[in-house]
Amino acid sequence: ATTASTRDAQVFDLIAKEQHRQESGIELIASENFVSPAVMEAAGSVLTNKYAEGLPGKRYYGGCEVVDQIEQLAIDRVKELFGATWANVQPHSGANANTAVFLACLQPGDTILGFDLSHGGHLTHGSPVNISGKYFRPTFYGVERETGVINYDKVEETAMRERPKLMICGASAYSRDWDYARLRAIADQIGALLLADISHPSGLIAKKLLNDPFDHCHIVTTTTHKTLRGPRGGLIMMRNDFENPFGIKTPKGELRLMSSLLDSGVFPGTQGGPLEHIIAAKAVAFGEALSDEYAEYTQQVKANAQAMARAFVDRGYSIISGGTDNHLMLIDLRTKGGNATNLTGKLAENTLIKADITINKNMVPFDDKSPMVTSGMRVGTAAMTTRGMKESDMEQIVVYIDEVLMNHDNDSRLSSIKEEINEWMKAFPLYQG
Ligand code: PLP
Repeated sequence: ATTASTRDAQVFDLIAKEQHRQESGIELIASENFVSPAVMEAAGSVLTNKYAEGLPGKRYYGGCEVVDQIEQLAIDRVKELFGATWANVQPHSGANANTAVFLACLQPGDTILGFDLSHGGHLTHGSPVNISGKYFRPTFYGVERETGVINYDKVEETAMRERPKLMICGASAYSRDWDYARLRAIADQIGALLLADISHPSGLIAKKLLNDPFDHCHIVTTTTHKTLRGPRGGLIMMRNDFENPFGIKTPKGELRLMSSLLDSGVFPGTQGGPLEHIIAAKAVAFGEALSDEYAEYTQQVKANAQAMARAFVDRGYSIISGGTDNHLMLIDLRTKGGNATNLTGKLAENTLIKADITINKNMVPFDDKSPMVTSGMRVGTAAMTTRGMKESDMEQIVVYIDEVLMNHDNDSRLSSIKEEINEWMKAFPLYQG
């Protein structure tokens, strides 16, 4: 039989190369992880062939009896995982989930209040290059220069001044936990809705290793592919449904429930047919996340992040906020001396990759460099913990990172470190067989 790989060697050779890259290097990009073979199998299944606009039991296409059951499983499992009472598992990505929420809750020109992108926030929380910043009026809060931590009194001041209709918490590069109760108290003072985008730490939140946003935030969005360890995708949830506060009515003149507005915000508001193969992969991942094994995994992710943070500090690196409560940390490279003086995020990223260590450059709060250069690097432990690494391995990774950065102009040293790393990675098999 002809296999897919004999039919298109060009693409499948490249996929094999990418698999080799993933298996032989150290993956520290905080937003990445390695899914299980079962998640991948579901994502690569015949479900990609199916159109299923609508929701389980209410579709615009025939032949949806089976995908209805799959999507319902995904919904039921994720509700159990987060203690939610409502979920929409169709957003194709985290960005799509957020856009659907904006469409459901806001009118063009409405004010939103988000966490400053240059302090660790996400593009979809009001950046001028994103729809959230183009169609709405974005305002921001940030961290304190001295502490690297959010000052909630200042968030309150900004909220009272700007009067946003929607407040957003959650970030891409913030290593501290969030005070959701305080944020809700602020939102209530001005009649704003509170959205938590838990894309990064959602796995740790599901396992109760961080504060629970669900009792305080009206709406919660997340990606499914970071600490949650599912396929690339998005998700919207609520613990308590409620009548929308902005007076949007049904054709019969009743106030529409937020769940119904959010469902319409996804489809037909911002998406067409759902990706049922990805929804099946989400269902598999949510099933895995309900297991004790995953609870242990998330504990290890957190313990590893703490070990890594300590190791960086011991070697003279400066971590924004001084440490981490979750799976990631943001390192300000400007204060590191020695041969690394004048180190930038860009140089760190480009040098570490020569030793097969993948990180991303990242703006630090009050950065004096451009987003293409940056003064920082962001690292996280979700992916390497999936490969079986423990605290002592984190220390070894930091030793390698430090050695690479201190030898950034010494290509022969870099290539011998790369060889050592490639050999070391064989002890942490990923997709064997
Ligand atoms: N929200 C936050 C906080 C994120 O960190 C990310 C991804 O990095 C997103 C949303 C967007 O997710 P996606 O890349 O799936 O659109």
